[in-house]
Amino acid sequence: MARLVMKFGGTSVANVERIRNVARHVKREIDEGHEVAVVVSAMSGKTNELVSWVNEANKHYDPREYDAVVASGEQVTSGLLAIILQQMGVPARSWQGWQIPIETDGAHGAARIARIDGGGLIEGFGRKEVAVIAGFQGVEPATGRVATLGRGGSDTSAVAVAAAIHADRCDIYTDVDGVYTTDPRIVSKARRLDRIAFEEMLEMASLGAKVLQVRSVEMAMIHGVKTFVRSSFDDPADPQPGTLICNEEDIVEEQVVTGIAFSKDEAQITLRKVADKPGVAAAIFQPLAQANVNVDMIIQVVSDDAKTTDITFTVPTAEFERARAILEKAKDAIGFSTLQASTDVVKVSAIGVGMRSHAGVAADAFRALAEKGVNIRAITTSEIKFSVLIDAAYTELAVRTLHSLYGLDKA
Ligand code: ASP
Ligand code: MG
Repeated sequence: MARLVMKFGGTSVANVERIRNVARHVKREIDEGHEVAVVVSAMSGKTNELVSWVNEANKHYDPREYDAVVASGEQVTSGLLAIILQQMGVPARSWQGWQIPIETDGAHGAARIARIDGGGLIEGFGRKEVAVIAGFQGVEPATGRVATLGRGGSDTSAVAVAAAIHADRCDIYTDVDGVYTTDPRIVSKARRLDRIAFEEMLEMASLGAKVLQVRSVEMAMIHGVKTFVRSSFDDPADPQPGTLICNEEDIVEEQVVTGIAFSKDEAQITLRKVADKPGVAAAIFQPLAQANVNVDMIIQVVSDDAKTTDITFTVPTAEFERARAILEKAKDAIGFSTLQASTDVVKVSAIGVGMRSHAGVAADAFRALAEKGVNIRAITTSEIKFSVLIDAAYTELAVRTLHSLYGLDKA
């Protein structure tokens, strides 16, 4: 007997028929004698609809009421799944975040889980009862208000619950059958990985792969939760294992690069003719930091005249207009001649723990991209990844080139 958390995403619970299919997956595990807690998302598209209603009601909404509205999607699917399980003869009950409780901080709309009391769920296992948990939501204990965990947050709910109840495994069921070397919609030769290291998955998710919420991977890594990404569209009677996210040591197949990620969510800003003297970088980046703008890649070129220089950096597309306004306002304090911007850029990244022990991995990419005529606007590297910023028009070419270069194409 094992204790499992099974998480089902929006497309897996998109309607009552699909929820019935989810119930079959749950019943399979129950029939094998396991203890099961299920975490569900809202029906696909539901959360977007709820968010749009909130914005229609008032763009300057009270974030606590935003959470009251958007948390409702998961309330519906948790109840429906419990009803269907009961109908199949599987004892089950729904749990809202506040009922468990899943305690969060007060950052409404993007709250972090602070503590989970797993006692009630575990007592339910004693009664042979499946716990069907509404993902994405918790409660702020200080105020008793419902709080949501940020978009995609039910992945984090699932991993956090798995840690709290000491589950042997957390299975994230989605509409793909695992984690791929890159987006299979872009590269038909993308391969499903049997295993990927926590750190690699963390980079993949942070750098644009949309399989899992970044925080869920962080949480799995910290608590060592054995996490699988697998498909709910498999036949419940013949399930496939999917991709295991695990410790680096548990991966036998040695590969320098494990995956290629890309993100269109980048905007490039260049400040021309900035004074080349101490304190200028601080004058630029401090006001951005104070306004919570996330600056990513930064390049400062060596000046010709030792008096002025150009500084280029990237920010998320959604924060671009705000960043531009802040910089224009601080123009005199910073002292630059012009601000040039481009939102038509994409960041392509290669990720792999093998980079720690191999030299020249990024250099190979620069040459391969140059041979294809792809111009690189900015580069960043760290221990297990490097990223290049390029024109968006070359996204597919660049991703394919790197995917082949590192031997990731399937035969
Ligand atoms: N329903 C929420 C969303 O769409 C949470 C989730 O599905 O993970 O963001
Ligand atoms: Mg999701």
